[in-house]
Amino acid sequence: RNAPRLHVAANASTLQDIEFAKREGAEGIGLFRTEMLFLERTEPPPEEEQFSVYASAVKSPRERPAFPITFRTLDIGGDKPAPYLRLPPQENPFLGLRGIRIYERFADLLRSQLRAIIRASALGPVKVMAPMVSSVREASWFVERVREVQNELRGERIAFARDMPVGVMIEVPSAAFDIKEIAKVVDFVSIGTNDLTQYFFSADRTNPAVGGLCDPLEPSFLRLLRTIVDGARGRKRWVGVCGEMAGEARTLELMVGLGVDEISVSPARVLELKAVRAALKVEDCGRSFRKAASMRDASQVRTLLAADRARSGQAIIDRDLVSIRSAATSKVEVIKELSEMAWAAGRVENAADLEEALWAREETFSTAIGFGFAVPHCKTDAVGTPMIALVKPATSIDWGSSDGEPVRVAIMLAIPAVAKEASRLHMELLARLARKLMHEKFRNRILSADRPESVVAALKSALQGD
Ligand code: PEP
Ligand code: MG
Repeated sequence: RNAPRLHVAANASTLQDIEFAKREGAEGIGLFRTEMLFLERTEPPPEEEQFSVYASAVKSPRERPAFPITFRTLDIGGDKPAPYLRLPPQENPFLGLRGIRIYERFADLLRSQLRAIIRASALGPVKVMAPMVSSVREASWFVERVREVQNELRGERIAFARDMPVGVMIEVPSAAFDIKEIAKVVDFVSIGTNDLTQYFFSADRTNPAVGGLCDPLEPSFLRLLRTIVDGARGRKRWVGVCGEMAGEARTLELMVGLGVDEISVSPARVLELKAVRAALKVEDCGRSFRKAASMRDASQVRTLLAADRARSGQAIIDRDLVSIRSAATSKVEVIKELSEMAWAAGRVENAADLEEALWAREETFSTAIGFGFAVPHCKTDAVGTPMIALVKPATSIDWGSSDGEPVRVAIMLAIPAVAKEASRLHMELLARLARKLMHEKFRNRILSADRPESVVAALKSALQGD
């Protein structure tokens, strides 16, 4: 089967965000919003100050896996004013001077930011992109500014990566329809669905009275995305999606079906999305996207996505994978019950295969992690999608742990062996669970849960990095 190649990267605004994203297993930073450096101060940050932040963000090229950072040049003006710019008050900030539209007036500001970013490109994988581009004219203007700064640095004998990709965000509908021309002048594009929906549906995303119109699942919007990706692909350009739409587990199949190279999401969403990705097949996603894009409205698309999820059992944890008053009295019985629950929920064809995979680990070492919890786990062909199941026996169980502490809760983790980077996902999910279980509050939430739904909610929030 064809596993998705889509990268799951994270959005960030600070160095702390980047650290968090790395811990969550992000495969890069797909959108570094540099505005934070420019806001709430009386003058713009000097080049050196910016360089020190950008340089700390970049991972050394020797480190593996590579951790590329896409810096977005500042997106201020409009609703995010920086007083020192003294922009005139605007009636319609979202339709006024913002993003790339202010750069011509503030040439030095752009120049010093580009210098800092381009200098950081000598230290590791860096990309740069401009926000709010509405035409090929603006896109090529931006590329020229990058080339100018590169020439300047060359003249000063300052190091930078010659092959640093230069791109633009596609978040204005006119740019979407100019994509074939834009793709000729940039190395990549990143679709910002937050602004793109707002401008496409002509509805302020922050105004509750009309915000609901900004629905990225509207088939008309999906067809707009199709136009962008096809246009960029015509020139073999790399395409990412960095708006909120990409962060939703249920829309991941549409992102895979659309065929983008990367999604970039809030760091807390990374791990869950990687787990969902592990359950998807490229061909199915392509079919779903085509179907969705030809539907009548967003509610039909939602029904389609819900049906797909139910069919493939993509949810990692579900109420039918939870047993809170189990009659099991031994480790053998608990592991059997976990496997049989997975079978009853339609997650495995043969419970014995899963049981065997779990025992293969249990036999080398006990998976009891202390505090009365055990985390039996495996990477196996027996399951088609990553899953977590939980058994809470009525009496505590001897788990053969070194400290001899009995087990009151067993949380099983099973990862399909064929998934992209199965080993890494396996280790990340395991580490996440173990880390959460160090917290008494979380343990108590599980121990006191008297309904499967409460257990599901606790495990889901743990998975989402809450
Ligand atoms: C977007 O518009 O989708 C985007 C990612 O940029 P921001 O949310 O920072 O405007
Ligand atoms: Mg935007």
